[in-house]
Amino acid sequence: MTSSTADVGAQLDLDAARAAYDELRAHGLSLDLTRGKPSSAQLDLATPMLSLPGEHYRAADGTDTRNYQGMQGLPELRGLFSPFLRVPVEQLIAFGNSSLELMHDTLVHALLSPLPGADRRWVDEERVRFLAPTPGYDRHFALCERLGIELVQVPMTADGPDMDVVEEIVAVDPSVKGIWCVPKYSNPDGAVYSDDTTRRLASMPAAAPDFRIFWDNAYAVHHLTEHEVEIADVLALAADAGHPDRPFVFGSTSKITLAGAGVAFLGASPANVQWWLALTAKRTIGPDKTNHLRHVMFLRDADGLREHMRRHRELIAPKFAAVNRILTERLGSVSGVHWSRPAGGYFVTLIVPDGTATEVVRLAGEAGIALTPAGATHPYGTDPEDRTIRLAPTFPELAEVERAMYGVTDCVRLALAAR
Ligand code: PMP
Repeated sequence: MTSSTADVGAQLDLDAARAAYDELRAHGLSLDLTRGKPSSAQLDLATPMLSLPGEHYRAADGTDTRNYQGMQGLPELRGLFSPFLRVPVEQLIAFGNSSLELMHDTLVHALLSPLPGADRRWVDEERVRFLAPTPGYDRHFALCERLGIELVQVPMTADGPDMDVVEEIVAVDPSVKGIWCVPKYSNPDGAVYSDDTTRRLASMPAAAPDFRIFWDNAYAVHHLTEHEVEIADVLALAADAGHPDRPFVFGSTSKITLAGAGVAFLGASPANVQWWLALTAKRTIGPDKTNHLRHVMFLRDADGLREHMRRHRELIAPKFAAVNRILTERLGSVSGVHWSRPAGGYFVTLIVPDGTATEVVRLAGEAGIALTPAGATHPYGTDPEDRTIRLAPTFPELAEVERAMYGVTDCVRLALAAR
């Protein structure tokens, strides 16, 4: 992945690269590859849901979903998602529209009230730190920054975080209270945690008695191929290893049904679930059960969910294929440049030679192609190598993705040729 300036420069003609870039700028584009949002065609798939539940607002057990209560969420929706999130239905909570919100609340609860197994509240600790497998999800990092939780960077591998590094830190440092994990089709590099990584996370000794895994399974059913990748059952492995309270599992339907009107889930041990529900009962009398019911009526069952995700795949897999095809065509032989080929999820990570990512993003921005700021994939927004760029191809139309990617490759070629 490292390459000398001479290697790269030799392959790229500065005049040709500049001419291509000037032509790109002349088009006055306005394209956006910044955020992992579903396209409107994807949202259209779930539009029929908006007329549900209609007059049929009673749950299977007769509960009137229009009314208060039902803190844990509708049992039939929890039953539908339980196998996909690998959380027993009685340990699964269905809540509001955002899993990020559940992660936020869980951190705030842990700061203000001792977790099961904790000696004290996190605000009473001298310092609280979280491991941040990097590259990772910028909103996880921003959440910790906002709450005064320090981030400790650990390297990502194709199998998940580098477990030798994780085990070494977690075993000796009681201020390390947690780790962020996106175990399937990770944001941004599409990595899938190996069973061995999950087993080691679930069973490693931890100096902090209240160490937690924030297992953000945001892309549990978001396959880009016919092969449905599955990851290990972190709750079961942790319980078997004597750490039942260690994982908090998160997920949502934001990229299944409607990004702004889906349902988010939290799964954990019975003790964690009880702790969370008791504290959350102070801030709400219960979640939106009509939305839960609407989801059950629309998705129906496991096969209905699979079929719905197949229709998403038909819309977005060609966009990911276009990204890979254009990168291969235009940058395949440029040394120091490589990228992820995810089998699911919403992102592609493009690695450019050290010291050039910021310049590529700047050039793209000036040509009307918005890219996520270089460094956003790293804690505190700083990529020390300045080489990681996150591409999010789901939102624009296919033709726009193609146009944007040709433009991005022009920017990479110019940034490298001009070095
Ligand atoms: N986790 C990850 C890894 C994500 O990529 C995203 C969305 N980009 C979220 C959580 C946000 O999920 P929600 O809409 O449920 O808050």
